[in-house]
Amino acid sequence: MSPVPVVGRFAPSPTGDLHFGSLVSAVGSYLEARVSGGMWLLRIEDIDPPREVAGSAGRIIDDLHRLGMNPDGPVLYQSSRLGAYQDAVDTLLEAGLAYACACSRKDLSESGKYAGTCRNGIPPGKTPRSIRFRVDAGDYTFYDKLQGTVAGSPAETVGDFIIRRADGLFAYQLAVVVDDQFQGVTQVVRGADLLDSTNRQICLQKAFGFVTPQYMHLPIVISADGKKLSKRVRTDPVNLKEPVSAVGQALQFLGQSPPRGLSLNDLWEWAMAYWDSDQVPRVKTGLPCAATPP
Ligand SMILES: [Zn+2]
Repeated sequence: MSPVPVVGRFAPSPTGDLHFGSLVSAVGSYLEARVSGGMWLLRIEDIDPPREVAGSAGRIIDDLHRLGMNPDGPVLYQSSRLGAYQDAVDTLLEAGLAYACACSRKDLSESGKYAGTCRNGIPPGKTPRSIRFRVDAGDYTFYDKLQGTVAGSPAETVGDFIIRRADGLFAYQLAVVVDDQFQGVTQVVRGADLLDSTNRQICLQKAFGFVTPQYMHLPIVISADGKKLSKRVRTDPVNLKEPVSAVGQALQFLGQSPPRGLSLNDLWEWAMAYWDSDQVPRVKTGLPCAATPP
């Protein structure tokens, strides 16, 4: 039996220009896929128009190209996939695995966990707003290549969660699961800020009968005092006038030690030859701007 070919992906939201945190995810996912001889896909997660910044999808694609990362195959735009998300919601509704919910934000508990108010039907006099996935009590513990065993039962933490919002937009959790399956993704490498939502995604994968990909959640960029970087620093665009320095800093952040003075091509050649996922720290502190450029 031949092994399943690796398919990795980078899936940014077009909510601004490429910043250091997303560059780290791009570089990590790219190298994990490519050193295994796999494909690396690019997906633009543009299903939340109110949060999007005009033109940023195109700039992210151009920036990745200038930094030396080119996806295999065409870019997938989630805005072109709304029919598939609706079909997925309908499938769950027909199977009794999803239901309409009439609750508004003010009806929810402060913990954020849904109490299940509409599980057995909408209360009299209320109108349906969103669609929720019916979470079972199962354990959705998974193994993360970097973080180890990650325990989690969505039934205990979040309860039944939204898959189609009251404003008609599809939830991130649903779209990401449907598209990872559609694109044949076998390997998800992304920031650890998404670690918490992984159990929910596995829950959905099981409901659809999809294969769960391998996960690797990279350290997120936090400052030396342990706080997340200020919004301004985290969202400062990557300096594309210095692509070698930008890629080198991302590699250093990921625990790699690239030699100095390389061209961009040589830096990628070095990274392909010497990428060592065992060196990636589980948690990383320190401002990226404090890292020494190679
Ligand atoms: Zn409800």
